[in-house]
Amino acid sequence: MLNAKLKKLMNRKNFLQTTLASVAALSGLQSYGFSFKSSYNNKLPKMTSSQIMLENAPFSLPALPYAPKSLEPNIDKKTMEIHHGRHHKAYIDNLNKAVVGTSLEKFSLYDMLKDAGKQSPAVRNNAGGHWNHTFFWNVMSPKGGGMPKGALSDEITKTFGSFDKFKEEFAKGGTTRFGSGWVWLIVQDKKLVITSTPNQDNPLMDVAEKKGTPVLGLDVWEHAYYLKYQNKRPDYIAAFWNVVNWDAVSKNYENALK
Ligand code: MN
Repeated sequence: MLNAKLKKLMNRKNFLQTTLASVAALSGLQSYGFSFKSSYNNKLPKMTSSQIMLENAPFSLPALPYAPKSLEPNIDKKTMEIHHGRHHKAYIDNLNKAVVGTSLEKFSLYDMLKDAGKQSPAVRNNAGGHWNHTFFWNVMSPKGGGMPKGALSDEITKTFGSFDKFKEEFAKGGTTRFGSGWVWLIVQDKKLVITSTPNQDNPLMDVAEKKGTPVLGLDVWEHAYYLKYQNKRPDYIAAFWNVVNWDAVSKNYENALK
């Protein structure tokens, strides 16, 4: 009954949001990973983490903003394919399973995140997983790296002393997060703060130790780096700086101050 309803909703949403070709691409994702076709990503809907905030169930996998191989050698193609096509997709599938046919069906993703403490573990983990990954893809770019500019650069220097000190503190947040989780740069009361969250929690959630608006985030789950870096999380964090999309992070910062 639930499955039939979910399928019906998925079909309606796919029809509205994408072309028939993309429906075929989405169903093809089941076996995706090692039998990956590079054209699949172009057929998924383009959505940012701000756009998906307003979405409600059934949720669908947004496109990566670049080809999975394009962050190499910093993040390898296979990791990106599996991370996006399997892990991110699984959070979406499990979120749909948890909310379709319930009163949460009409809730936006943002409503679920801000009240995460009142939700079931399935909703909290998978709503977080969907938002966190969509955000993460968008703060990286094959043309990334370098340094932030303008107001964000000034504020980083003012808050942390220098860009290098900021990177050190952010990396420390990532390496000292025990087990699975995320490290974040957030705006809290107009100030920059580094924090980390366990599992798929994030600073938008009522349960977060430090609440605020994320401007930069890094996934430190083993699935984000293990194929290339094995147990060397600090090496993965060091490579991350080469792909950070500072233009996107600056926009996140400007929006967070509004
Ligand atoms: Mn992940």
